[in-house]
Amino acid sequence: MPDYQTFDHDVLVIGAGGAGLRAAIAASAAGVSVGLVCKSLLGKAHTVMAEGGIAAALANVDDRDDWRVHFADTMRGGQYLNNWRMAELHAKEAPDRVRELEAWGALFDRTPDGRILQRNFGGHKYPRLAHVGDRTGLEMIRTLQDHGIHQGIDVHMECTVIRLLTDGSRIAGALAYERERGRFRLFRCRAVVLATGGVGRAYAVTSNSWEYTGDGHALAYQAGAALQDMEFVQFHPTGMIWPPSVRGILVTEGVRGEGGVLLNNQGRRFMFDDIPESYRSQTADNEEEGWRYTQGDKTARRPPELLTRDHVARCIVREVREGRGSPHGGVFLDISWIRRKIPNAREHIIKKLPSMYHQFKQLADIDITTTPMEVGPTTHYIMGGIRVDGDTQMSTLPGLFAAGECAAGLHGANRLGGNSLSDLLVFGKRAGEFAARFAREHGPAAVDRAEVEDAIRCALEPFERAASGAAGDGPYRLQQELQATMQDLVGIVRTGPEMERALDRIEELKERARRVGVTGNREYNPGWHTALDLANLLTVSEAITRAALERRESRGAHFRDDHPRPDPAFGRFNLVIRKGKDGRMELEREPIPEMPEELKRVIEEQK
Ligand SMILES: Cc1cc2nc3c(=O)[nH]c(=O)nc-3n(C[C@H](O)[C@H](O)[C@H](O)COP(=O)(O)OP(=O)(O)OC[C@H]3O[C@@H](n4cnc5c(N)ncnc54)[C@H](O)[C@@H]3O)c2cc1C
Repeated sequence: MPDYQTFDHDVLVIGAGGAGLRAAIAASAAGVSVGLVCKSLLGKAHTVMAEGGIAAALANVDDRDDWRVHFADTMRGGQYLNNWRMAELHAKEAPDRVRELEAWGALFDRTPDGRILQRNFGGHKYPRLAHVGDRTGLEMIRTLQDHGIHQGIDVHMECTVIRLLTDGSRIAGALAYERERGRFRLFRCRAVVLATGGVGRAYAVTSNSWEYTGDGHALAYQAGAALQDMEFVQFHPTGMIWPPSVRGILVTEGVRGEGGVLLNNQGRRFMFDDIPESYRSQTADNEEEGWRYTQGDKTARRPPELLTRDHVARCIVREVREGRGSPHGGVFLDISWIRRKIPNAREHIIKKLPSMYHQFKQLADIDITTTPMEVGPTTHYIMGGIRVDGDTQMSTLPGLFAAGECAAGLHGANRLGGNSLSDLLVFGKRAGEFAARFAREHGPAAVDRAEVEDAIRCALEPFERAASGAAGDGPYRLQQELQATMQDLVGIVRTGPEMERALDRIEELKERARRVGVTGNREYNPGWHTALDLANLLTVSEAITRAALERRESRGAHFRDDHPRPDPAFGRFNLVIRKGKDGRMELEREPIPEMPEELKRVIEEQK
């Protein structure tokens, strides 16, 4: 049995994106010892890719904005399946978290009078996204990292956690391997914060980075914590579709926020053809009004391109299916048309959307200041995740906390753009604080040596199978088959029979994954890493599919062709998944607690 190194921390934070860094800072500030583990190098987490901005009702650009409007927008966007307590805390606390980031050195774009500039985004009634051009995530990570490294946090980079350890009733630690050397590390701790991000790599077309293999979701589930609302996967309407090598890369909603329009192959702004009833009163009647909105006219209503992502994505799918798509199977997104409206359009576009300009120039040889982009939906975000308490972020397993994309609740059935970065700050801080409190109030838990050895043995099995000639498929093949299955059968438009087929395929892939083999040695072996990620991808894919089958209605990001309408009965509960005693996935309906009267009133007032 190989050796492993042991590390002791009061709080172990797994993940160094926005949520993990903010949690580590908060826990450290509370006076406990903190370890921070991440798969990649510090500063390279997926948060760095965030483009459009951080949603917070600062009211710098439109003084009608406040937490109530943000709360109501978030609940409407989530189709009222949200954890309303989280939506309330998020709307109230996001402005302070953004100002705090500024105090720590973040350089935001500015209004003419020197305040943080805010831009329009889908589903937000007023301009609300604090931003740095279209590179907001980079600024956020840089600032949190700079601030964090002065807090005395122990960072374990390029280190992947493969199992959470419990003493039977609460969290006790985690086991990880070093990506570079292949050696194992045991972390003993009193509390764990999971901040591992999303699951996009379960799909073939995604905006997500290689790290997004659903590790936190699967680790929590395997350790006995509950998952919630896994059926809600967000397909962002605008990903690049051409050339094939860049398919899925995100085209920020900021393009539409700055006046970009969606056109079909007949040059028609098709988004005007389908405006949902619940948004009609907030949506422009005509193109001129939509343009005025993007230019800050407070009397104008938003253009339909800025409706919620689920709706825009489905409208694009409809155009393509009905033969009105672009040459490579998407639609056109045009920001160059603003030349007809403003004299210095080229400079304006490059200043406001520098990354988009370079992305299209370098990857597709397209100048977005003169030429429309071709775009189509891409798997982007998961609203579902680890079920947590709204105030503390503790999961259903004592001592295990979760924050950021891997946690569920805030976004309900659909996330509004910009609400993730604010989620990371608000609930990262809360998770860190409450994990520190838990660590102070509880003594160390016992780590079971046999469990550690079992986890190491399981991790090394793919090598042994290959060495003994007992191996089946390689990990990449299985990963690709899984991605194709999820893309084709559990994608943006779903049906019961297709998802039944997906479940059969997932069962078959699980069986084949038990025989997966890898060659080579343990030093930086991506095949081995993929073999270990595969188990997590299979767990989250099964959870998504089972929950999506159970939700026999269409709501938010979850659309069923065989049940195309929302069903009010399905609006009263969350779907919760746990590992049963026999090891199978169990699914239950958990009623959503009654919302307090004052919050109901806020929603009514904002209708
Ligand atoms: C292109 C793009 C643009 C976006 N733009 C915006 C935007 O403008 N506004 C907005 O609000 N949202 C945006 N989003 C969404 C947002 O960026 C993410 O939801 C958010 O950054 C997730 O942050 P996180 O802290 O939860 O996870 P991440 O930033 O992904 O961090 C996850 C961390 O967990 C680590 N990790 C994962 N698994 C393990 C493991 N097993 N062991 C150890 N460490 C592990 C990773 O190494 C990483 O450090 C965008 C997303 C994309 C893809």
